[in-house]
Amino acid sequence: MSAKIIDGKAFAATVREKVGAHVARLKEEHGITPGLAVVLVGEDPASQVYVRSKGKMTLEVGMASFEHKLDVDTSEADLLALIAKLNADPEIHGILVQLPLPSHLDSDLVINSIDPAKDVDGFHISNVGLLGTGQKSMVPCTPLGCLMMLRDHHGSLSGMNAVVIGRSNIVGKPMANLLLGDSCTVTIAHSRTKDLPGVVRQADIVVAAVGRPEMVIGDWIKPGATVIDVGINRIDKPEGGTRLVGDAHYDSCAAVAGAITPVPGGVGPMTIACLLANTITACCRANGLAEPEGLTA
Ligand code: NAP
Repeated sequence: MSAKIIDGKAFAATVREKVGAHVARLKEEHGITPGLAVVLVGEDPASQVYVRSKGKMTLEVGMASFEHKLDVDTSEADLLALIAKLNADPEIHGILVQLPLPSHLDSDLVINSIDPAKDVDGFHISNVGLLGTGQKSMVPCTPLGCLMMLRDHHGSLSGMNAVVIGRSNIVGKPMANLLLGDSCTVTIAHSRTKDLPGVVRQADIVVAAVGRPEMVIGDWIKPGATVIDVGINRIDKPEGGTRLVGDAHYDSCAAVAGAITPVPGGVGPMTIACLLANTITACCRANGLAEPEGLTA
């Protein structure tokens, strides 16, 4: 294997450390404690795990954590009323509504009811528009984490060919906008893309956000390219049990790539670290204070 392993777990720890230092400074110099509210509707087991670890890490960096767990049959009116309350609460700088929501709730309506300045997931239509037009916004956490790792590894990304596989609103599209913002030449590939291997072979940077286990293989990778694997897929092991794999076939890609993120331990840990980074960014903006450097796009 020749590729450098981009250690997302270690990098996320440095991001959290930076956030923690800024939280301490905000408390000491301004008497402000950044606060993050997480709203969970229903009892989806994966969402419960995410919400628990978000709450734990929020407290670990010294922020205030507010968890709102609502019944699965909560009405849209009640959920919107809670969001309005959180929007108006000066102790809360970030609001995250855990997705997916139960099917009787309109996710777009709910997300767009969050104050865009507190929208630490970066999914509000105003933030999507700001990012798309290259203006200061709240940036979705997973692509922000990918961008931070790419900048850390390469320094400048200017002029690089980037191929993003996947065009979802939460990963593919914001990722492409962020790479464009850093002056990459960006291609977004998807399920209708013709000759995907040929497209990927042009890339200096490949971001795989597909949701198909080990789809991207080493034969598709330009020698020396950087592979950022966003995928989280659970597959059966031949000997029984399951394991997590990404959207890239790790061994074959690592043999050709210059650098690669592993799964687990790559993009995943960066997502919560970036949620905390977004909360401190939102808190500084709300209080008219300088934003910490290196924690946003
Ligand atoms: P998604 O909404 O299902 O989007 C998947 C995208 O992949 C779609 O744009 C789809 O194209 C494209 N695609 C599907 N099959 C393809 C194929 N054969 N060739 C080329 N493109 C194909 O998924 P997502 O929410 O973006 O998530 C993607 C992956 O990232 C999943 O494994 C998810 O679990 C993971 N994820 C990880 C994190 C993290 O924190 N690490 C966060 C979010 C997501 P069409 O649009 O044409 O259908």
